[in-house]
Amino acid sequence: MNTADSESLARKLLAAGYVEESLERADIAILNTCVVRQASEERVYSKLHELRPWKTPERTVAVTGCIVAKEGENLRRRFPHLDAVVPIAEYDQFITGLEARYDYSLGEAMPQAGRTGVSHFVRVIQGCDHNCTFCIVPRVRGREQHVPIHDVLAECRQAIEAGAREIVLLGQNVDDYHDPSGRGGLAALVREVERLPGLRRLRFMTSHPQDLEPELLEVMAASDVVCRELQLPVQSGDDQILKRMARGYQTRHYRAIVDRARALMPDIGLVTDVIVGFPGESEDAFLNTRRLIEEIEFDVVHLAMYSPRPGTFAATRMPDDVPAAEKLRRLNDLLALQRQIAARKTARWVGKDVEVLVEGRDELGRTYGRIRQGKRAIVMGRGEPGELVTIRVVQATAGQLTGARAA
Ligand code: SF4
Repeated sequence: MNTADSESLARKLLAAGYVEESLERADIAILNTCVVRQASEERVYSKLHELRPWKTPERTVAVTGCIVAKEGENLRRRFPHLDAVVPIAEYDQFITGLEARYDYSLGEAMPQAGRTGVSHFVRVIQGCDHNCTFCIVPRVRGREQHVPIHDVLAECRQAIEAGAREIVLLGQNVDDYHDPSGRGGLAALVREVERLPGLRRLRFMTSHPQDLEPELLEVMAASDVVCRELQLPVQSGDDQILKRMARGYQTRHYRAIVDRARALMPDIGLVTDVIVGFPGESEDAFLNTRRLIEEIEFDVVHLAMYSPRPGTFAATRMPDDVPAAEKLRRLNDLLALQRQIAARKTARWVGKDVEVLVEGRDELGRTYGRIRQGKRAIVMGRGEPGELVTIRVVQATAGQLTGARAA
């Protein structure tokens, strides 16, 4: 979501005639921020400190993203070198303000070619109507707003015309999507987008186990364009903890979704999020999460230690009663477990032919892209961005596959 916001702001700036520069040469530095965890919020403050010696009267330091809704003008008091605190919905006003500051006219700008790369993110829902007790997102992103299918399609068409070959539909809870005029939910949207000429791949994220429509899995299974990857946060493998998190499902339901998805698409890539050390998480509750991870064998598990976020139900009503050292032990235990699972699972790719959508070249000059199941892949030999190439996998690590073009 943050990447999509950064790209949207960058596109607007490029269209207004600005160019991307290294920090040393730039006039304007904009920090896009995330406050979903305490650690990400701390990173924002540390970056703002780092920018203090860079700042001069001619230069602008701006902050946008979720921290704006959480901290607002407090930021300016704490960081006097900060020039602008920009809400996500006010990018246009921010750019107009820059015009005045730099005595610069939009009318004179030479718009640059767009910023669309091989993948283009399209936000289809902003905000979230759930109230998971640990989560700050509803507070900083507000209630759900759904983009009409018509507008989503228009943005996708434009991106494809500009060179995008993959569309990623985004929402904090993308499964809750519905077209405001009643044209349907996410499955209907996916069906319409996947038909767009020139599109090679379609992804969507992030799903919610309570809202995922069974029909969506059927649409995925029947399509050559929709990627076989599901980002489905489970958060905990213990039903009592899920209840305290107000997630709205039980592990039985989660397992049923995974079973159905694998019955339709045996090779589907499964990504999940897990929080350890949520208030009240006993050793038994933690072991239930451990068992679920072992049993499901996810491809990727994003692990986090619980940290209370101000203003959330959990922060105000549930004592943070798992000691920090115990949270860390649980985190490390699951990290080690997931490393073993990922190594075992990725080894299964060796010798197989997989289709890679080439995204570009990495810093070592190697051609890279992604397979349909979401894994990163290195293509031995050449490949142009946007090209689909089939490789035979010769090496597999938890992070990526490597292969040569299949004959
Ligand atoms: S569904 Fe996701 S974004 Fe919404 S409140 Fe729950 S965790 Fe936060």
